[in-house]
Amino acid sequence: MNVVKVAVDAPLLDPLTYLQNSDFTVSRGDVVNVTLGNRNVKGFVLSAFTTTQEEINKEFGKEVKLKPVASINEEWIKLKDPYLTWLEWVAEYYIHPIGQVMNLAFPPLAKQTKTRASKRPPVIPNLAPKPKPELTPEQKKCVESISLNSGFKTHLIHGVTGSGKTEIYLRLFEQCLEKKQKGMFLLPEISLTPQLVNRFVERFGDQVAVLHSQLTDRERTNQWWEIIQGEKNILIGARSALFCPVDNIGLIVVDEEHETSFKQDEKLKYNGRDCAIMLAKHNNCAVILGSATPSLESWKNASENKYQLHSLVSRVADRPLPEVTITDMRLEKENSERKSIIPFWLSTELFNRMTVSLANNEQVALLLNRRGMAQVVFCPSCGYTADCPNCDISLTLHARHHLVCHYCDYHQNFEVKCPDCSEGELTPLGLGTERVEEDLKTLFPDKRIARADRDEITNRVEMEELINNMEQGEIDILIGTQMIAKGLDFPKLKLVGLLLADVGFNLPDFRSSEKSFQLITQMAGRAGRHVTGDESPGSVVIQAYNTEHESLQFAQKHDYVGFAEHELLNRSPLKYPPFQKMLSFRVTSMSQEKSQTTAKYILARAQALKEKYPQFYSQIEVLGPAASPLSRLKNQYRYHLILKGTKAVELNQLARQIISDEKWIPAQVKVLVDVDPMSLL
Ligand code: ADP
Ligand code: ZN
Repeated sequence: MNVVKVAVDAPLLDPLTYLQNSDFTVSRGDVVNVTLGNRNVKGFVLSAFTTTQEEINKEFGKEVKLKPVASINEEWIKLKDPYLTWLEWVAEYYIHPIGQVMNLAFPPLAKQTKTRASKRPPVIPNLAPKPKPELTPEQKKCVESISLNSGFKTHLIHGVTGSGKTEIYLRLFEQCLEKKQKGMFLLPEISLTPQLVNRFVERFGDQVAVLHSQLTDRERTNQWWEIIQGEKNILIGARSALFCPVDNIGLIVVDEEHETSFKQDEKLKYNGRDCAIMLAKHNNCAVILGSATPSLESWKNASENKYQLHSLVSRVADRPLPEVTITDMRLEKENSERKSIIPFWLSTELFNRMTVSLANNEQVALLLNRRGMAQVVFCPSCGYTADCPNCDISLTLHARHHLVCHYCDYHQNFEVKCPDCSEGELTPLGLGTERVEEDLKTLFPDKRIARADRDEITNRVEMEELINNMEQGEIDILIGTQMIAKGLDFPKLKLVGLLLADVGFNLPDFRSSEKSFQLITQMAGRAGRHVTGDESPGSVVIQAYNTEHESLQFAQKHDYVGFAEHELLNRSPLKYPPFQKMLSFRVTSMSQEKSQTTAKYILARAQALKEKYPQFYSQIEVLGPAASPLSRLKNQYRYHLILKGTKAVELNQLARQIISDEKWIPAQVKVLVDVDPMSLL
């Protein structure tokens, strides 16, 4: 009899077996409808083959009566190899239901030829072509050493901020189009700015399609079809653009490859960078990772010659890198020059430099990676702090009247009188972007001040407006969260200040130094990107308490390589990535006891399997279980366990065996597997 293996769109790790329908025949890649229990679900045919009832019974260990495929799903296209093989790899590697992974490869809405006129700006602007600049010698050398004709190869471009990496990508995409192949350009959502898209449109005109989270479902569906039908040949997008089944790929570029936001931390917990490398491998084409601060994973691969390294050590046109000063906030109290008008969060050094810059009509940007007015509100009489009722987190004060949880969005009004002792008055403590904005307005009353954080900039149009205002010089001081640190290029920006630069150092995560170094370097790289030889360079002031921290010391010297070597030495004895692979289990439940018991049970299962199969698992280390640093979020108690080992396949296999036969997981408890976790909070 003729049967097919179908990946059904349901939470099942493995495909199911169906009979071929006697009225039609389906083959690998077809999208079909099948019955699952008494439901009708979408499915994806993985293979078709001939077998016997006897074989089937043997496979299932009992007598089974297979159902036929119900119908072909005409709405979607057939998935082809190598794309389909890549999807199978994703499901396998991330231990995720294969039908749900396949389902990601389709747009949100059905195809539709007519689109209603919309008041939204066009997804792709209409821009006149711009002449190409002549490449700098460094750029030229890099472009020439990357060949699009030698099959799969991973390149790492390590180039200081402003060294012209984007121009290199543009040249390589040109070559890709000349070969009549398609290109994919991936970058973190936050760096996917209109400025960047415009540079591609100015070069490639109507060949460009874009996919990101700010599009409506209709816009996304239209972009999807345009690239699938070959009307567009370059796809620019955030990590999810990988799931657009582009055929004939000749080049994939992952910019800002170090960004942890390439990792999706819910549902399919994939890393867009790693998946891009695998997609290039399946397409036998070149893949380029670019960054001013490469991830230590990529850096180690490059130093072991698994990736080809290309370094750009200077900015284009010999524009100087900014001068970086570190100021110690602990010494401010004793600073005799300090004026009383200076707010507590600002150093005399940064204040003086701001005053000079603003007097020269130069722009200033301040980075503070905290939203709101104050981090906590606290009662000095009884010690009460306002905490979120759903999370193990204090509420942040917004404006002067609103308390908000940054994890679950719980809101309540802020009452000054302490609800606990009814005597004290709740006092705001700490700092956020709103507070900085308010103080700046008092300090520099005649300057135009703008704030960029998730409360203020909520969509594409607002971001475009902000960028426009910066470019036109209609903003004097910009205060923002990491939103302003990534990818932006403002010619008039000369001075950058980093407030509380050391907030990220002490997070209980082995990557916290790396992440801080990256953010500081990226933000510092925004300063003076367009100064010419005879102008003074841009400048950066880093305000911190822990001024000796290596992330600051290396960032001050623009010394990525020094930082990477230092940090690798730190991680090596502890066998943290990139020295070993990691896989985490996260257990969540409304009941703390159930979470904890389940987590302990996972440990027991892991240990039993290690004992049973020492030939495979003896090298794997099991850490935990422990309460997660954020021990309760959205009313869920959180525990985790970590597997560490040298071989990804072994970790994968052990994790599958642990979660197999899921009946042992109690009701209302969730066990989530995260392969190569990026955050352990
Ligand atoms: P990166 O991506 O490395 O930070 P960009 O590609 O954004 O750097 O380049 C920085 C600036 O230099 C941009 O404004 C870009 O237009 C300009 N630029 C890039 N390459 C050249 C070149 N060869 N000649 C002149 N200007 C260039
Ligand atoms: Zn909350």
